[in-house]
This record gives sequence, C-alpha cells and structure tokens, in this order.
Amino acid sequence: MKYALSLSTKVYQEPECIKNHPEAFVLSGKKAFIITGRHSAKACGALEDVLDVLKENKIEYCIFDEVENNPSVETIEAAGKIGKKENVDFVVGIGGGSPLDAAKAIAVLCSNDFPAIDIFKASYDKVLPVIAVPTTSGTGSEVTPYAVFLRKDIETKMGIANPKVLPSYALLDAKYTAFMSHASTVSTAVDAFTHNLEGYLANRSQALSDVLALEGIRLFSECIDALAENTMTMEEREKLMFASMLGGAVITHTGVTLPHGMGYCYTYYKDIPHGKANGLLIEEYLKYNAAERRDKINHVLEIMHCTDIEAVGSVMTRLLGTAPKLTQEEVLLYTEQTMRQAKSIENTAHKTTKEDIYHFWTRMAE
Ligand code: NAP
Ligand code: ZN
Repeated sequence: MKYALSLSTKVYQEPECIKNHPEAFVLSGKKAFIITGRHSAKACGALEDVLDVLKENKIEYCIFDEVENNPSVETIEAAGKIGKKENVDFVVGIGGGSPLDAAKAIAVLCSNDFPAIDIFKASYDKVLPVIAVPTTSGTGSEVTPYAVFLRKDIETKMGIANPKVLPSYALLDAKYTAFMSHASTVSTAVDAFTHNLEGYLANRSQALSDVLALEGIRLFSECIDALAENTMTMEEREKLMFASMLGGAVITHTGVTLPHGMGYCYTYYKDIPHGKANGLLIEEYLKYNAAERRDKINHVLEIMHCTDIEAVGSVMTRLLGTAPKLTQEEVLLYTEQTMRQAKSIENTAHKTTKEDIYHFWTRMAE
C-alpha cells in the first residue's frame, strides 16, 4: 500500500459558514480583493455575507466582478493590474470554478511582475493568500492547486498546477447553490462525479484518494433522482457540496484523466459547460478502460446500482441528454487538440495513442 495526504487548505462546511469563520478574513490581512462572476455572487447572497464580515472587522476591500465562464488569460491580466494598484493583502474568490480559478491566478499576478500568459510556465514564490467561497457544487477548486484558463491563442483550455495557489481557507455553505439553474446544478454535480471517478481510475490513484473518491461517487449516486427530477433538498445540496470538495481533494492527489482532456474540446468549440462536457464522455471512457480497471469499475457499478457500463451511460443521458454529432473535420481537429493535454493522457489507465483518441472521438461523433 502507498498513499500520501496533503491538504493544506482549512476547510469548513456548515450552514452560515462565512459568518461563523471571521478569522479566515481577519488572519489574511487588512485589504481584500474580491473576485466574482457578473451576477451570481450577488444573487445567491454569498457576496453580501462576505461583505458583512469584512465590514464588521474593518477590513477594506475592492471588487472585480467580471470573471466570465471559463475565464480568459485577458481577464486575469486585467484583474491582476487592479489588485496591484489597490495594494491588496489577500484575494477572496466567490463563485463557481471560474471565479475561484481566476482568484488563484490573480493572487499570483498581484505579487509578481510577469505577464498573465507566462503563468503557465513561470516559477514564482510569492502568492497572496486566497479564500475560496464556492457557490457551485462541482469543481472542488476550493481545495485544488489547479486553475484552468481559456487560451484563445491555441483554441483550448489550459491549466496551471502549483501548490502555492491552494486556497488557505475554503468556506462552504450549500445554501448558495440553491440559486443555480437546474442545468447548472446537474452539470456541476456531474463534474464532481467525474473528478471522483477519474481520480479513482487514474494511474496516479492511491489508497487514500480511493477512499475519498468512493465516498464522493456514493454521495453523487444518492442524488441522481433528485438531480434528474429537479427536486433537490438542502440535504442533497449539502451532500453534493461535500462530494465536490471530496472530488477536489481526490484530483489534488491523482490529477484528472482523458474525459477532462477531451472535454475541453466540447467546451471550446461547442460551448458545452465543463461538467456536462466530461459527463458525455463517461460511458465510452469506462468501456475504454474496462480491461485495465475491471475490479474498480465493477465496484463503481455496485455503488451506483448499475448492472453494467451502459447503465452508467443511461444515467448520464438521463441527466445531460446526448452528445452532439461531429463531422469528420471536427473529429480530426478534436484529436489534435486533445493531444495537447499530455498529463490527462498519461494518467489514463489504458495506454493511449493519438490513434486511440481519434477512434474515441469517432465513436463519440456517431
Ligand atoms: P462557473 O463557470 O464558475 O459558473 C457557471 C455559471 O453558473 C455562471 O453563469 C455563474 O454565474 C453561475 N453560478 C455560479 N454559482 C451560482 C449560484 N450559486 N447561483 C446561480 N448561478 C450561479 O461554473 P463551474 O462549473 O463551477 O466552474 C467551471 C470552471 O471551473 C471551468 O473553467 C473549469 O475548467 C474549472 N475547473 C477547475 C477545477 C480546478 O480544480 N481548479 C476543476 C474543475 C473545473 P456568474 O458568472 O454570474 O457568477
Ligand atoms: Zn472538472
């Protein structure tokens, strides 16, 4: 047996989490830089909860509220300049994975002098502390050293992986997720499921991450009917927020695999949300790894009360609908673009060549 566990983020999940943990803000500095998307942080009440704590504790703040879905390098560049000018001490990301990822990069750019595009290759020591307040239950970004950005120059999404960007605090309150649309609730939940599943089947999986991953898969399974029928209770929302955090802790240790590497194509070229993009690929991915991961896949089927891999595919179709048809040209383009995601490919149990990826996309195209 071999495992390693490293979770440097202080994580709290509870009702009224922000109000209950003012120390997260007080201990981080005297001026906060709040990073959000355009609407939801206000609409779901998370921004107001954070502002209340900052005001009560006389902590100054400024707000950048222009993070788009799948944040671009240009956005983090603009926010980094503002943060530097405002001389902020720490960064608070409020939102789904997009603002949380942006907050991590902005924390780097506020304390370094390189252009944002260099974040993919630069080495850096100084990073401002980050507090993460997730308002979706999906990415687990609040506990990962990853942040993913849209690269218009190479027409794909590309991530950074650096333990220095791990948030110092993650404050989780499932009440915020009740404001998500049904489609976002489902897509983000499927993202959490795929993190746990891919982490469980990854080459880098290990004894301890497997324990977390199986619990994440179990929690997701318990919510499938409510997700499909749009009858989510607060209890189920709490389970999904927990499953999402577990998925983040899993991929922090294992990394992601082929569905994430391939899913970026659906997101970039078809504007399919991140979680849905991964979920559409899951049935084919399980079949693709069936020989290498027979026992683990059987265990997942048992937990999900699925008789076979096709039944997991039916769960994904029930939740997400079907994958878009692709032209031969798209298959070729997606194959080339997937080849850029070397880490996801290497981490996949089935030893994967470019030809395999071409055949995978060909099967998805039908
Ligand atoms: P998201 O892109 O952050 O947000 C999607 C949409 O949901 C936005 O329109 C957002 O509105 C809205 N929204 C968020 N919270 C809401 C709430 N409580 N109520 C109502 N609407 C809400 O979605 P996401 O799936 O959480 O994040 C996806 C991003 O995370 C992708 O870029 C993906 O690559 C990345 N990711 C990162 C990691 C990691 O480890 N770092 C892991 C997986 C995925 P506003 O724009 O108004 O906020
Ligand atoms: Zn993901």
